Amino acid sequence: MSDVLDRFLRYVRYDTQSDERSTSFPSTEKQLVLLRALVDELRGIGLADVAIDEYGYVMATVPATSAKATVPTIGFIAHVDTSPEMSGAGVNPVVHRRYDGRDLVLPDDQSAVLRLAENPALAEQTGCDIVTASGTTLLGADDKAGVAEIVTAAAHLVAHPEISHGTIRIAFTPDEEVGRGTAHFDVARFGARFAYTVDGGSRGEVEAESFSADAMTVTFHGFNTHPGYAKGRMINAIRIAANFLHRLPADRLAPEATDGHEGFVHPYVMQAGVDRTSVKLLIRDFQTDALREKELFVKHLAQEATAAYPGAWLETAVEESYRNMKEVLDRHPDVIEYAREAVRCAGLEVRSRSIRGGTDGSRLSFMGLPTPNLFAGEQNFHSRLEWVSVCDMEKAVEVIVNLARIWEERSW
Ligand SMILES: [Zn+2]
Repeated sequence: MSDVLDRFLRYVRYDTQSDERSTSFPSTEKQLVLLRALVDELRGIGLADVAIDEYGYVMATVPATSAKATVPTIGFIAHVDTSPEMSGAGVNPVVHRRYDGRDLVLPDDQSAVLRLAENPALAEQTGCDIVTASGTTLLGADDKAGVAEIVTAAAHLVAHPEISHGTIRIAFTPDEEVGRGTAHFDVARFGARFAYTVDGGSRGEVEAESFSADAMTVTFHGFNTHPGYAKGRMINAIRIAANFLHRLPADRLAPEATDGHEGFVHPYVMQAGVDRTSVKLLIRDFQTDALREKELFVKHLAQEATAAYPGAWLETAVEESYRNMKEVLDRHPDVIEYAREAVRCAGLEVRSRSIRGGTDGSRLSFMGLPTPNLFAGEQNFHSRLEWVSVCDMEKAVEVIVNLARIWEERSW
């Protein structure tokens, strides 16, 4: 069995679901079980500086084999947690050998069927082994595929000292799925100049652009009184919020109406009372400047709604979430250039994708560690129809090894 598959099948059996309601770090104790197992495995492979810190971050070093002093330290990062949206307990991976276009029926739930017609990415997997869960849980390829690929590439580099490379750092992190994956990531301790998250989709993908994101809260203040005696006095904040939501365009600027490079405004949580109703909105765009425009537009609509209810008043607040990593990566073109070259050296076509969301790399890039995202082979993530191709996982290992080599070759 291929090494990367063997590791992957082991890792997915650990329940590592994170929990957004938790106030501890990592958010769930069970993530530490896999993180500690990884420490043992990395030591067994012969990596140096293997350590787990008080927050659960695991870091290790593949020592340099090159005599060149100028090769920058490069990092590879993957997260061990799985999404709170779908159960990750009792994952029972199923390997479907030599895919030939047939429907893949998941054994524990006959209604869970992976069909070519609904999964165009399967079209390029003929002859490859496909791994799915058994129908009642997610698989956890997001991002245990990335973990397995990085460990396998590190083991390959240790076993092949004839491959010249600089110092390679690897890190495994908790709590990515609840947006806290970088909360305690010690960039200085990691010590890499540039890094790659291995947490993407189809083979060949290199993602160097993410959304820029803010969170906006719009709060309408009304006036509550006994409804039996409210004539001419009550100001119902719920009605103001409804008026505001009605003004938001539905045929543009909404997640349901946009794709590609378009941004959006997305009301996603409302806390409603007569006296006070607040609406939380996600503001997204690839251009950071355009966030401000969208926020002013939202504020304008909220003011119009409020003005229709004399005596009501309005509060708005904006909080920065993360920024488009492209703003940082544009200053370090080699990071992307070498990734593309590593993909081509593995015999693959480069696919450049813009992430309509954020990654740990978006935050790390602004913490001083430029970090684009590489494919890991993940498909249908956060779903019980999640799957990964063993061919893609093997290619990802090859790309990581190529990258280590290319960074050395390009240094002098
Ligand atoms: Zn992920």
